[in-house]
Amino acid sequence: YQIPFPENEPIFDYAPGSMEREKLQEAFKKLMDQDPIDVPMYIGDKEVRTENKLPLSPPFDHKKIIGHYNRGTAEHAKQAIDAALKAKDKWAALSWEQRASIFLKAADLIAGPYRYEMNATTMIAQSKNAYQSEIDAVCELIDFLRFNVYFMEEIYSNQPGSSSGVWNRMEYRPLEGFVFCITPFNFTAIAGNLPASAALMGNVCVWKCADSQIYSANLIMKIFKEAGLPDGVINLITVNGPDAGEVVFKHRDFAGLHFTGSTAIFKGLWKEIGQNIDIYRSYPRIVGETGGKDFIVAHKSANPDEVAVAIARGAFEFQGQKCSAASRAYIPTNIWDTVKKKLVADVNSFKMGAPSDFSNFVNAVIDKRAFDKIAGYIDFIKEQDDAEIIAGGNYDDSKGYFIEPTVVVTTNPKFRTMCEEIFGPVITIYVYNENDFEKTLKLVDESSEYALTGSIISRDRYAIDLATKTLVNAAGNFYINDKPTGAVVGQQPFGGARGSGTNDKAGSYLNLLRWVSPRTIKETF
Ligand code: GLU
Repeated sequence: YQIPFPENEPIFDYAPGSMEREKLQEAFKKLMDQDPIDVPMYIGDKEVRTENKLPLSPPFDHKKIIGHYNRGTAEHAKQAIDAALKAKDKWAALSWEQRASIFLKAADLIAGPYRYEMNATTMIAQSKNAYQSEIDAVCELIDFLRFNVYFMEEIYSNQPGSSSGVWNRMEYRPLEGFVFCITPFNFTAIAGNLPASAALMGNVCVWKCADSQIYSANLIMKIFKEAGLPDGVINLITVNGPDAGEVVFKHRDFAGLHFTGSTAIFKGLWKEIGQNIDIYRSYPRIVGETGGKDFIVAHKSANPDEVAVAIARGAFEFQGQKCSAASRAYIPTNIWDTVKKKLVADVNSFKMGAPSDFSNFVNAVIDKRAFDKIAGYIDFIKEQDDAEIIAGGNYDDSKGYFIEPTVVVTTNPKFRTMCEEIFGPVITIYVYNENDFEKTLKLVDESSEYALTGSIISRDRYAIDLATKTLVNAAGNFYINDKPTGAVVGQQPFGGARGSGTNDKAGSYLNLLRWVSPRTIKETF
């Protein structure tokens, strides 16, 4: 290939006293101190603002107003589709190198001049600590943009065989129509990648981000535009889901859905698309990454310290608001006391507060709705006889939406929080008889409707092998001796099946393949 395999963007560690930390703190302060901004929608060549302004506040300080965003209507969704379709032919006709250059330049802008602003924006709007934000909004987003280009070339250069007198070719056309991207609050990298990956393959997009992501999405759009993305290729709207859906899913040119979000919403959209199937020119591509009930299962041979660290990091980084977050663990009796001691000590040592103080490992959860849902689960747990909270369990939303990292132990392997997704800093642990490993693996497989990520921690190779085989369908990303989070683009292609999604593996050529509709050309000489 022309394009060398990219290297993952190096992660800054923001060590105390470092120049990088100082710059990031400066960027954070500047954004917090500036006058509130008015975040527009981006439709065609226009920045669109409406009368309906909604406030933007950092989750860790919900009374502070950092800006407003503009609620659009179904009419704005329609304008976004029109703008996309208008841009389509010219964009699709551009050579792939030209399209690639735009996204490679965007990656360089994020790596260089925008690095600190990008990080600080996500620290503020998503309430991520500096390290989590660096991994997400800076490094993972850059990696997606650069690796996508590599995968695109990999796809385009895959050509059929020919025979004497015949030359067969594959032309990797974009989809005929527009792609609708729906992105979640929890990863700025995902927010940017969903439209960018489809657009890179020559598609035009209508992008509806989560309201609580718009502050970061706004900066992504600015950077894409500065990198030379033509007007109308990606159109960013803040329209309520049902209002946007009413227009998008009734449009003949709706060609694909690129979604990350909840299982329930994705299933609803799939049904809606099914009901409208006769309207569309082609069968729409439906790509979704949805929920998870991700597990850690330890074997009796596991090092207890490693198990405790995997649980603490897997469950509580970014307050557990990752689809991949560990939210149930199965620990054998022989190591439980040691695991428990270290885990409780570690969790109790975590500092909680605003991300401006870099020593705060735990920040706020995203908004009031998330806070109420998670607090509701904690209240429920407190009332049950077959479960006990051994660390955390308190919450306070007086200034920000803070919930202590909470460790629950249950005697019931099918306890509600062993099965249901909470999407917050709560992990439930079931302690199993160390001789029941095989039985426990089956339990892991049966206990949830999801299959996104999971870990086996063991020093026994036979146990690792047994877990890998028994849990063959229980996770799309399976980790041996590690936490189940933190997939790296180009290294661990990401996605799961069952209730967790269509498993089209973000960060690999498999995902990009969904955004092309190839034409086979046979020429006879
Ligand atoms: N890719 C992320 C990870 O491996 C999770 C993405 C998500 O939460 O949607 O941790």
